[in-house]
Amino acid sequence: MGSQGIHNFLPPEIKRFKIKKELLKKYKCKIEERENSKGCVTTVYICQYDDCNKEFTRTWSILDHVRMHEGEKPYQCPFCSRQYTQKGNLDKHMLLHQKPEVEARRSHQCLHCAKWYTEKYNLKTHIRKFHPEEYKQKYGVYKKRQS
Ligand SMILES: [Zn+2]
Ligand SMILES: [Zn+2]
Ligand SMILES: [Zn+2]
Repeated sequence: MGSQGIHNFLPPEIKRFKIKKELLKKYKCKIEERENSKGCVTTVYICQYDDCNKEFTRTWSILDHVRMHEGEKPYQCPFCSRQYTQKGNLDKHMLLHQKPEVEARRSHQCLHCAKWYTEKYNLKTHIRKFHPEEYKQKYGVYKKRQS
């Protein structure tokens, strides 16, 4: 690795391991100790936000990273309120909301992932399958008979 010098840039609050851990508790982050091939134990920090699961070996990088999840996402989609840290990502996402001409007949859009459907029924099926939580909120739970 050879980047010992980087430690000089650590903010004082995360210089000590204990405090580092305390800090990380505020965020969704898993700390794991792993043994590498040389038998050294390294601490791995795993981001637990959504389906991120990115791994970091340095506290400062995971902290930086999770703050990104928590922190400012200045770019918000006006259609479905998704938020993005980078404008490029929002732009890309926004394309999904534009009805493709070929598919102009499609008039039902999933607000959770911006897919278009011709039939409301298909959209409903899609939401049930891919966004069960949202489905529950919108359409209520499937009624299961309870004895
Ligand atoms: Zn993450
Ligand atoms: Zn959107
Ligand atoms: Zn969807």
